[in-house]
This record gives sequence, C-alpha cells and structure tokens, in this order.
Amino acid sequence: MRKVIVSVRLPRDLHEELGTMARIVGPEDDVEDAEALLCLNVDPELLRRARGLRFIQVVTAGVDHLPWHHIPPEVVVASNAGSNAAPVAEFAVALLLAAAKKIVHFDRNMKGGVVRPDVEVPVLSGNEVAVLGLGEIGMRVASTLSAMGMRVVGFSRRPREGVPLHRFTTDLGDALSGQRYAVVALSLNKYTRGLLTYDVLSSMAEEGVLVNVARAEIVDREGIRRLLLERPRFVYATDVWWSRDDYSRDGDVIGLPNVIATPWVAGGYGNRGVYMSMLRSAVENLARYLRGEQPRNVVPREDYV
Ligand code: NDP
Repeated sequence: MRKVIVSVRLPRDLHEELGTMARIVGPEDDVEDAEALLCLNVDPELLRRARGLRFIQVVTAGVDHLPWHHIPPEVVVASNAGSNAAPVAEFAVALLLAAAKKIVHFDRNMKGGVVRPDVEVPVLSGNEVAVLGLGEIGMRVASTLSAMGMRVVGFSRRPREGVPLHRFTTDLGDALSGQRYAVVALSLNKYTRGLLTYDVLSSMAEEGVLVNVARAEIVDREGIRRLLLERPRFVYATDVWWSRDDYSRDGDVIGLPNVIATPWVAGGYGNRGVYMSMLRSAVENLARYLRGEQPRNVVPREDYV
C-alpha cells in the first residue's frame, strides 16, 4: 500500500478517509518509501530521510515558510489557497471599513472621553481601491468592495476572469499612485518580499489606508514605519506581523496610533472551524494526487528558489 506521512493532527473522520487510500505514518516512522507528506511545515531532516517523496500538501494557503532550498525539484508542492479565503476576505473588508470609516478612531476617542466628532467620515462608494493580488482572497475582496460601489484596481501578474474590476494592471506604481485605499492579498515569494517600499507607499494619498491580510514581509518594515511617523493620518490596518512568534518585537509599530493591529486571526488561527475546513481541503487535494488526478494549487517552484 502507498505510504503517506502526516505531521499534523487530523480529526478521526479525515484520518479514516485518508487511511482508505494510503498507509498513514508519522514523521518519526520509517519514511524512506513514503511518497507524499501532509504538513504545516517540513523539517529538512525529514526530507533527507524521505527519499521517495514526490508530493507535499501544505495545510496553509501561504508556502513562504517552507525550507525551499531543501525540497528536491522533483517534489511537487501544493498550497491550500482558497481553503480559508472567504473568512480572510471578510476580515480584510472589516479592517478596511474599521480604518476608513474611522470606527477605531471614534472608539478610542469615546473611551478617552472625547465624544465630539473631530474628523469627517469618508464615503467609499464611488472611490477607487487597489487590490494587490487577485487570488482566492483578492478576488473575493474585489467582488465585495465592487458590490459596495467601489471601483477596484486589480494588480497581479495575470488577469483573472470573473472579477469585477474597474481596471487591471501589472504595474504596482500604477496601482498605488494617488490611491487612498489599498488591500494586500499577495502571496509572499521571492518577488513580493519587500515589494511595498517607502517610495511605493508614499505615492499613496496623504490620508491613505493600507490593509494587509497576506504576509507582513511584503511590506518593508522600516518603510511603513517611517511613513506612519511622517503621516499621522495614514492608517496601516494589518493582521500579519514580521515577528511571527513574538509580537512584542513589533511593538514599535503596533503601538503607533495610526496602526490597527490584530494578531493573525483572519484565517485558521482565529477560528477552529476554519482550521478544520483547511484540513479537509488539504486532505481532499492529497486524495486527488493519490487517485492520479491533477492536484489543485501546485506552487511554481520558481517563485521561491
Ligand atoms: P492565491 O495563491 O490564490 O493568490 C496569490 C495572488 O498573489 C495571486 O493573484 C498571484 O498572482 C499574486 N502574486 C504572487 N506573486 C506575485 C507577483 N510577483 N506579482 C504580482 N502578483 C503576484 O492565494 P490566496 O489569495 O489564497 O492567499 C494569498 C496569501 O494570503 C497567502 O499566500 C497567505 O500568505 C496569506 N494568507 C493569510 C492569512 C491570514 O491568516 N492572515 C490566511 C490565508 C492566507 P498571479 O496569479 O498573477 O501569479
């Protein structure tokens, strides 16, 4: 029977389902002839022992954390893009509305005893918004904001069918220049790491709102910090952080008054049911591979190595 390494805890039904197609082993077992791996991350030491490995199914939508230089080129890697896109897109829209509509601002004011409105509340309908990344999350964000009457400027490498865009561009400067609202929904790879520099971001409007539900490292840390210090009315609303395991190391950004901060809760880390659907979707894709079908979300290795 074919052998699959599973290094995440699966609920009983998924374990049984997968067990009908392959023998499930753990990373500590004999993995030499295992051909597939279901995981959150891969230990290079496991890769060294699993010499028969041909397919890696990751549970998360992002695959930037994998040790790409240790993964042999013949091993196909599949992400889990789409498995939590609906809740993450909802969260991106929530951050945009909280920032743009000054909800967090008024909440902080009122708790501090300031009850008189001191700023105008912008109307979003009829205004442009840049959506950076038109994948599973970005296209849902674009559809929702478009339904609210916003004119969506979509940025990615390839145009995407069926997304209600005002216009599409592959030029980041064109997407962001003069823009008041922008949402980051790109995957983090060798091309997008540090893509949003101070120069690019400072081309946005003085009172811009930048939402990030993707990965912190797409935004240059010192660049956004400088911009936030220079422009007190610019807001950075983000769910994702450069220090992934100790948010206190990002305290100098989190503490800024023009930052709206959430602790990576937009997707599976914020809701157990969402995490369970991610596991189900990952197992379904692994099953596609085991049945000899084309798996979804095969990651272009060239983006990472
Ligand atoms: P997808 O793979 O569906 O979409 C990624 C998008 O990024 C695509 O539109 C792709 O465009 C674009 N992209 C990648 N590289 C470039 C580039 N060099 N230039 C321009 N565009 C580029 O992923 P999802 O939408 O599902 O998720 C996006 C990211 O969000 C994930 O990679 C993950 O890091 C993050 N995420 C965060 C969560 C959270 O909890 N906050 C939860 C889930 C995901 P193209 O098709 O043209 O290559």
